[in-house]
Parts: sequence; C-alpha cells; structure tokens
Amino acid sequence: MKKSCLLNEPIRFRIAQFNYLRLLTRQLFICSCLLMTAVLFCKKGNAQKVLVTGKYLPRVEQALSIVAKYEPDIFADIICQSYIQLGEIPGQPGTSFCILEDIASSRALWIMLSPLRLRDATNLSIASVIVHEAMHLRYNLAMKHDPTWVTDAAARHLEHTTIYNYQLFFLKRVGATREEIEGVKGVMRSLSIPIIHP
Ligand SMILES: [Zn+2]
Repeated sequence: MKKSCLLNEPIRFRIAQFNYLRLLTRQLFICSCLLMTAVLFCKKGNAQKVLVTGKYLPRVEQALSIVAKYEPDIFADIICQSYIQLGEIPGQPGTSFCILEDIASSRALWIMLSPLRLRDATNLSIASVIVHEAMHLRYNLAMKHDPTWVTDAAARHLEHTTIYNYQLFFLKRVGATREEIEGVKGVMRSLSIPIIHP
C-alpha cells in the first residue's frame, strides 16, 4: 500500500493545495525572470547613449529627433545602438567620424561629432552628419564579414559618393537652406566626389 493512501482526505487535499501553490509560485518566478530578461535585452538593444555634454547637447538632441523623424530605419538599426560623442581626429580638425568596435561578443558603435564643425552648424546640418556617419557604420557592419570586401581608396571613394549624395538628398528632404546644402556640396567638391543630383 502506498503511503499517501494512509493519509486522510483533508490532509491529502492540503498537500495537493500546497503543491499547486508551489508550482504556481515557481511558474510566476520563471515568468518574472523571462520578463526581466526581455526588458534587459530591449535596453541592451536600444543602448543609445548621448555622451555629449555642455552647450552642444541641446542641438545634438534636436538633430537626433530630426533624424528619428525622417530616417526611422537607420535611426532604429544604427543610431539607437550608438554612442554619440564629441571628438576630433588628430591632424584632421573639423572632421566627424565613426568607430565600429566589434571584438568577440562585444560590439560598440560610435558616432563622433567634430566640436569645431558643431560650432557653426545648424541642427539640420548636424542631423545630416549623424545620418552620414550612421551610413558608414551600417555599411561597415554589412560588409565586415564579406571576404570580397575591399577598403582601398577607390572603394572608400565609392562609399563616400553614395553617402554624401544621400546626405544631400536628406538635407533637401528636411527643407535645408541653400547655404546648408552648399556647405555639403563644397566638401564634396574638395574631395572630388561627384554630385549626382545637383
Ligand atoms: Zn564619411
């Protein structure tokens, strides 16, 4: 005879009730863990950090809101996961740039805005630079595992031809002034980058 059969009905009922509560508690705990993991994962996937401080911060935030409105795809794919920071390349003042750190399982995307360029830039111009650098990051992320990817001067020129012309397209779409558009065209001319849609 099994031991449980020796127990009277109220005790068996209480044991069953206790086991049910214990199972429910465990399930609730597992659900909570899954929910926490999902929240943490979302936060990790949406890890944009604006590290810009001081007088440029409000303009960078305005520029980011313009990009979010007009370029939602690249904003979600790249910019939302990027650190936005001020920085200059030694010997190349006035040049914004991007960094793709991708070592083992750790990946960090950086969009570095030149303080020298920000000094006189409008919000739309800053937005167009953020789009420009985000396009570099997206391109590099797409190509870095491609064994046929070449990064010589000709390839970089072609990449810049696409990106600068898209930057012009973006500026026109957001209603930039003639001066803002001509500023980018001037840089393109200095780099011998063809203007496809003048
Ligand atoms: Zn560039």
